[in-house]
Amino acid sequence: MKDACRISAEALRVAGEAVRPGVSTLEIDTKIRRYIEKQGASPSFLGYGGFPASACISVNNVVIHGIPSKNTILKEGDIVSVDVGAHYRGYHGDNAYTFPCGKISARAQALLNATRESLYEGIKQAVSMNRTGDIGNAVQRYVEARSYSVVRDYVGHGVGAKLHEDPNVPNYGSRGRGVRLLPGMTIAIEPMVNEGAHQTRVLGDKWTVITADGSLSAHFEHTIAITPDGPRILTVCD
Ligand code: MG
Repeated sequence: MKDACRISAEALRVAGEAVRPGVSTLEIDTKIRRYIEKQGASPSFLGYGGFPASACISVNNVVIHGIPSKNTILKEGDIVSVDVGAHYRGYHGDNAYTFPCGKISARAQALLNATRESLYEGIKQAVSMNRTGDIGNAVQRYVEARSYSVVRDYVGHGVGAKLHEDPNVPNYGSRGRGVRLLPGMTIAIEPMVNEGAHQTRVLGDKWTVITADGSLSAHFEHTIAITPDGPRILTVCD
C-alpha cells in the first residue's frame, strides 16, 4: 500500500508541475500515465468502469471525473483538480489535489484552502475506534462554517486490493455514526467542496460531474492507514 500510494503521490506531483496556461488536460494525463508506468505500476483509473484515461482532470465547475481531452486547454485563473491512483504489486493508492493554473482569484484560492484544510480535519478523526461519521462530521463542519457546501452524491471509500472498497467515507454526517475504524484499515478521504450549493449533475458523456449551479468546485484526497498510533498519510512523495 505504501509503495502504491507513494507512486500515486509522485504522479500527482508530476501533474501539478504540468499545470499551466496553454496546456491541454490530455497532455497532463499522458505525463501521469508515463510516470506511473515507468515505476512498474499501472494507472488505477485507466479502464475502470470503462474510464478512458489515467487520471480524472476536472476544471473549475467540474467536480470530479473530468475526462482529459486535447480540446480542454487550461487558462490563467483556472482551478484544476487532478485525481490519480496507481496499482502496484496488488494494491492501489488514490489521491487528488486541486492546482491553481497561473494566478487565480482570491475567491478561488479561499475555496482551495478550505477544501484542503477540511481534508486534514477529516484525517485527524481517522483514529482507531472512531467511526466514519466522525470523519464526515469534521469535514462538513469545517466546510459549512466557511459557507461552502459538501458534495453528497460522491464519497470517500476503503482502498486496498480494490480501488473502491467498503466502507463508504462520506464527507458529511454525524459523530458516532457509521462504520467503526480499526487499525489496519486503509481508506481514501476525499472532500469535494462547492462554492455554491452541493447538488451535482452528470454530463451526457456519463462521466463528467459538474456543480448544478455552475459554481466552482475543489477536491483534495489522501489515502490513509488507521494505525495504533493514529492516522498515517500514505500518499506522500519520497
Ligand atoms: Mg478516491
